[in-house]
Amino acid sequence: MDGLAEALERVRERIDRACARAGRNPSEITLLAVTKVFPASTIHAAWEAGLREFGENYVQEFENKASEVRYLEGARFHLIGHLQSNKSRRAAELFDVIQTVDSAKLARRLNDAGRKLDVIVEVKLSGEESKTGASEAELPAILDAIRGAGNLNLKGLMTVPEWSEDAEVSRPAFAKLRAVAEQHGVSGLSMGMTNDFEVAIEEGATMIRIGTALFGRRKHA
Ligand SMILES: *Cc1c(COP(=O)(O)O)cnc(C)c1O
Repeated sequence: MDGLAEALERVRERIDRACARAGRNPSEITLLAVTKVFPASTIHAAWEAGLREFGENYVQEFENKASEVRYLEGARFHLIGHLQSNKSRRAAELFDVIQTVDSAKLARRLNDAGRKLDVIVEVKLSGEESKTGASEAELPAILDAIRGAGNLNLKGLMTVPEWSEDAEVSRPAFAKLRAVAEQHGVSGLSMGMTNDFEVAIEEGATMIRIGTALFGRRKHA
């Protein structure tokens, strides 16, 4: 637990320094604690340390933890892994925020689930590889579907650049996400992970998704 408190302190110091460089206020940045692979007890410890926003990658994995953490006051759970439409109904029950909406069809399915949800559209900017996320060309139709959906509240765009040890490699994708969001009148930028969150903050991130820097290295994934 102490390890976590110290890790959180270090992350907050890094956020503060990045904000100082960028002339931003740290209160503009939401820290999402990514707890995938870790047990429900890790979410409890993180909540005790003051964290309230949690990210999970897999519907099924979170299904097994949900009953142990849902009652934590003020806690909100974000799905940050790819969502197949056949799991959308279950996801809408389990999560408060879906960050990986990548098609108009998925948006409609989530809306049909009947629960109020915050949603973020995942945008694919690196091109190559088989990364998930919507292309820029698909974005207008997805945003229209969300804006027309009574149960969905659009909260921004998110992206996951190709992983690199060098945070600067992510900068163009972050700058691009910001430009695309501005172009489409969307505010809220979920970008930046342990390896590149300072660069993401410099490029305008409003939410950073941090696992390793808080909880240590995961055994897999
Ligand atoms: C795992 C994951 C994170 C957290 O990554 P770390 O490098 O451990 O901070 C953030 N976002 C997504 C989409 C992830 O899958």
